[in-house]
Amino acid sequence: MTPTDATDFTALPPYRPRQFIPGGVDLTDLATVTGLYQALLDRPATSAEALEGWLLARSELDAAVDQARSILYIRMTCQTDDPARAEAYRRFIETVEPAIASLGDKLDRKYLEARRSSGSDLGRYGVYERNVRADVELFRQENVPLRTKESLLSQKYQAITGAMTVEFEGLEHTMPEMRKFLLEPDRSRREAAWRAAARRRLADRDRLDDLFERMLGLRTRIAANAGCRDFVEYQFRACRRFDYAPADCRRYHEAVARSVVPLWRDILEDRRRRLGVDCLRPWDTSVDPDGRPPLKPFERPEELAARAIEVFRRTDPALGEQFAAMDRQGLLDLASRKGKAPGGYQAGLSEARRPFIFMNAVGVDDDVWTLLHEGGHAFHAVATVDEPLLAYRGAPTEFSEVASMGMELLAGEHVGVFYAPEALKRSRRQHLEGVVRILPWVATIDAFQHWIYTHPGHSRSQRQEAWADVFGRFGGGVVDWTGLEEERASSWHQQLHIFEYPFYYIEYGIAQLGALGLWMLARKDPRAALAGYRRALALGGSRPLPELFAAAGLKFDFSEATIAPLARLAADELARL
Ligand SMILES: [Zn+2]
Repeated sequence: MTPTDATDFTALPPYRPRQFIPGGVDLTDLATVTGLYQALLDRPATSAEALEGWLLARSELDAAVDQARSILYIRMTCQTDDPARAEAYRRFIETVEPAIASLGDKLDRKYLEARRSSGSDLGRYGVYERNVRADVELFRQENVPLRTKESLLSQKYQAITGAMTVEFEGLEHTMPEMRKFLLEPDRSRREAAWRAAARRRLADRDRLDDLFERMLGLRTRIAANAGCRDFVEYQFRACRRFDYAPADCRRYHEAVARSVVPLWRDILEDRRRRLGVDCLRPWDTSVDPDGRPPLKPFERPEELAARAIEVFRRTDPALGEQFAAMDRQGLLDLASRKGKAPGGYQAGLSEARRPFIFMNAVGVDDDVWTLLHEGGHAFHAVATVDEPLLAYRGAPTEFSEVASMGMELLAGEHVGVFYAPEALKRSRRQHLEGVVRILPWVATIDAFQHWIYTHPGHSRSQRQEAWADVFGRFGGGVVDWTGLEEERASSWHQQLHIFEYPFYYIEYGIAQLGALGLWMLARKDPRAALAGYRRALALGGSRPLPELFAAAGLKFDFSEATIAPLARLAADELARL
């Protein structure tokens, strides 16, 4: 059962009874929340035992406040046409969140100080302490307002790109709507739609370049304030990348160029042949190459949850049961309906320790794969439910995306629940092509950002050249951009991470390798692979990345030795599909 308004979580009790927070308090209220954080700051934590109790009290408070924020967010996205919900969320972000940020730094310092004086054994808190120490070392009060300015510029990016609409065939369309014309079998209609959207983007090209350069300036100052050589060093530390360095990222780029780009080129060549065209143009990369109508995995959105439960059950009966329980508890809001925000996400209700999945299913193939992905995130949350420390109930992106991308490949073996055999092949082929595509795309975005932040004072045209370079190196060289050089030169403007989440992206490449590695293990021994998957998920964030990977039977390595066999596995499977 999927309720139409999945935002009433009053029936969900805290997973553990509250010890520190009084019952019945409003955790969206600034004075209440700061009062509770202040009480923690004032509470003595001198002995090792008192310190552990203090840490768990902080964890309880962080989880409850995080859940209050999540519920406001879920309520807003489930009904965007209710201004009161948007206002409640905005108020929380503008009042409670900044207050917690600076109180959080004070609490971190108190923790480190208490650890020094108690001289106790680190025990199981090694990873936690490493993270806290890194955050405290990098924190500079003068960077707080710069960070706020940066977030405001991010909002501007959203405003500029969100306001783009295109008049096409007499009607006004948003940019996401324009994408559906690229699935259109009529090639000239596809081309017209692509050109119309590209023209619209070019109209804002200079504004977006100006905006990016202001962000670049802020980031350079933030890094200098923190005593870092450049923003590369700053962001590696801010992202807590303790287990790999820029040189490892370069090794990833090289290995992908050698082992994956040729496979991607073959996929594009095959598409060109099947489309029966002399050269593949940018508007030819999404349409079905055999001219078939779109796949239809289910008729009514209500069918999606029931079938997904069956897919997960076939993958692993225990996971199937976990997903069925989410459905029973109203933790799945899957169907698209008027007033719902676009997209899909998995949000944690941290105090109840339950996951919630939000989607906009309309009955297309993507819905199935998105749900398998979000399902993997949800299983990760369920696996860590008995971990008392909030910080350990989630893993870094490099591994949390192994949980989700890995689940796509493991459960993807069973999407026959939705499809007849021929459609199943087509769905799995499309998905696997997408998996292959991610690896060089990650290299493109990551290599470009490394170039940007190690070339201070570069000009706009130098940046365009650098983009053309990486685009050429990882793009496969099959798509013909003749006459569209300007469109290509600014096509990175569409990648919101470059603006809003600088330097995030390599995580997805690392995780995709882990997911493929897991699939390779499952091909040999599905039960052992699933046991490893669940073992690693249960560790949450309590171990460094190499240990999380090792628990799943995977190597934390992105050199050619790891990448080449995974590319061969994907190529062999594509040849069969
Ligand atoms: Zn994800």
